[in-house]
Amino acid sequence: MTGTNGKTTTVTMLEGIFRAAGKKAIACGNVGRPLTSCLQELGEDGLAVLEISSFQLETLYSLRPHVAVVLNVTEDHLNRHYNMENYIYLKSRLLKNSAESEYAVLNHDDPIVRGFAEKTKAKIVWFSLRERVEGAYLQDDCFCWYGERLFPAGDLPLEGEHNRANALAAIAAAKLMGTDTTSIRTALKNFRGVKHRLEKVGELNGITFIDDSKATNVDSAIKAVGSVKGESVILLGGKDKGYSYEPLFDAIKDSGVVHAVIYGENAFRILNAALKKGFSAVTLCRPFDLAVRVAYLTAGKGQNVLLSPASASFDAFTSYEERGKRFCEMLELLKSEAGNALSVPKEATVEEDE
Ligand code: ADP
Repeated sequence: MTGTNGKTTTVTMLEGIFRAAGKKAIACGNVGRPLTSCLQELGEDGLAVLEISSFQLETLYSLRPHVAVVLNVTEDHLNRHYNMENYIYLKSRLLKNSAESEYAVLNHDDPIVRGFAEKTKAKIVWFSLRERVEGAYLQDDCFCWYGERLFPAGDLPLEGEHNRANALAAIAAAKLMGTDTTSIRTALKNFRGVKHRLEKVGELNGITFIDDSKATNVDSAIKAVGSVKGESVILLGGKDKGYSYEPLFDAIKDSGVVHAVIYGENAFRILNAALKKGFSAVTLCRPFDLAVRVAYLTAGKGQNVLLSPASASFDAFTSYEERGKRFCEMLELLKSEAGNALSVPKEATVEEDE
């Protein structure tokens, strides 16, 4: 499985589906565990659900998956791959060794991925949120597979259309591997998402904190602002990867985002994009800890503080996980400060400073 966004979510979903069907399956590759370390455990009949990034596709020579899934291709990693043409080429390499006996599950709604159908010998199976395609699709709010209604899309507890697209891709791959509908439904019903992906991590004074630290590019942040219910103060910034932030502000203007707190090494590039798009409800604030604090102070009761940075974390953290963890620690700190403020006895005096 490859794609700009949704790989980890979808391989984890698919691993859960196979396991619910009683199969031995391991999500591996870019998701964390190397494929080679799983071989013994998988044995002859195990299923490797392999996440593959564009970096790994640079040096892919002989891998020939039985089912190859491409979720989407949007701007990312241009600091490494130089331009979109090269990045698109790398993503298409997943299909390069496929034979007629194999399958390519492709996103029909993504014009770039749709074009991959011409680049492979594999049998094409589509998935789509919008059209009744040959494959997996959504119709009347129901997941369907080649004309068969499987179960209501509402069974999937995750928010966001993009997660329904991920589920369709997982359904297609599961069906192609002979999985029964009951197991697919059970696994999707129980799927709670993956850490640092639109994860509600807590609440303080009626303000909900959402950790989407893995939104390390523009499209994932666009999906976040389109999915999160209610009004939000968004935290944006980090290490730049060479793409434009302007499409994000088009999406923000149509969303529940009421304010953006911008931090990080790329803060001025993001600020420029915001102002160019006429979005002026912004605060530029560094470093990260202070930005989280300001986002909290800016948000009103009933609103969210949404960390969906549209940037890599490497300007200030070792990983997106560390950034997400720091966000949660800041929430705990703010909670303890709020607690301390409440516990100050009425008669206490505050010492004055110069
Ligand atoms: P990846 O492994 O490809 O980085 P993840 O599942 O870890 O994908 O999700 C990364 C980010 O992208 C998260 O912010 C998540 O909410 C968002 N996301 C998940 N699925 C999609 C999708 N299909 N399209 C766009 N964004 C997505």
